[in-house]
Amino acid sequence: MEYVHDAAGIFSPEQMEREKLAAEQRRNEAWESLKARAEDIRIIDFHTHIFPDRIAKGALHALAEESQTIPFTAATAESLRESMREAGVDLSIVLPVVTHADKTGKINLSAAKTNETDTGILSFAGIHPGVEDPKKELKFAKALGLKGVKLHPDYYRMSFDSPETMRIIDLAAEMDMIILTHAGKDIGLYPPTCCPVDAIKRVIREIHPPKLVLAHMGGWNDWDEVLEKLAGEDVYFDTAFSIGDIHWMDQPKHGFHQLSDEAFVKLVYAVGTDRVLFATDCPWAEQIDYVNRIKAMPFTPEEKQAIFAGNAKRLLGL
Ligand SMILES: [Zn+2]
Repeated sequence: MEYVHDAAGIFSPEQMEREKLAAEQRRNEAWESLKARAEDIRIIDFHTHIFPDRIAKGALHALAEESQTIPFTAATAESLRESMREAGVDLSIVLPVVTHADKTGKINLSAAKTNETDTGILSFAGIHPGVEDPKKELKFAKALGLKGVKLHPDYYRMSFDSPETMRIIDLAAEMDMIILTHAGKDIGLYPPTCCPVDAIKRVIREIHPPKLVLAHMGGWNDWDEVLEKLAGEDVYFDTAFSIGDIHWMDQPKHGFHQLSDEAFVKLVYAVGTDRVLFATDCPWAEQIDYVNRIKAMPFTPEEKQAIFAGNAKRLLGL
């Protein structure tokens, strides 16, 4: 493998090999620790973002400017854990967004590093369809123990049903990885929407990935179409950034809105309570607000249990 831990050039190949094995062991132990406490995990946030400490401030500022919304945390691991403690979230899935193809390997190594200790934060992989060898990148991510891969077609400016992206979906599905994609419009980016409902339909029809998760309840600000075309499909829906109030900086932009609690409940029942994963998009929505909001909705205790953690555990194999 050409990626090495701490590629500072100060390690001999033997030392590097030893370190690689030690890292793998730490990841396995962290996963076993998560599994051991799975029964006590009541709330899983399936869609969050953090950045390495040294770039968090700058990255968050740039994204906030793009979206014109105010983040709820500092987007560091520590600030996410603080938010989780406050909201009673036991596990957060972190989704890296790869904006440059050549950063894929580095980002996935850093994601794997996050998973070396069980701190209640589990990172997925990221990938960019512009990578030279998607199979190699996905195999590498899989070998690092990463359970899923995040796609964000709008950042790639490439449709979800482009040949490059479909190849990645096909490969990831073959490797039994969870595929989580941004779906619908993006608050910070510009039209056209790169993951519209029709592209999702085509991917389901042609590939049928068994573990496909559509963020933002299937299509941000495309929910009428989701209701019409995606209800009944064999996919999962995360609740990230789909309800509550948008924390605008100044003026609301483009007339975007979130689902009302009533419309959300209707959509959840339409797609199936066994297919919905609690998620926030933290730092862009507040974990405690989403927890309280969904707890107050007219779902049965069993349905709430499934949405808050049961469905996610099944998908993660926890
Ligand atoms: Zn997100």
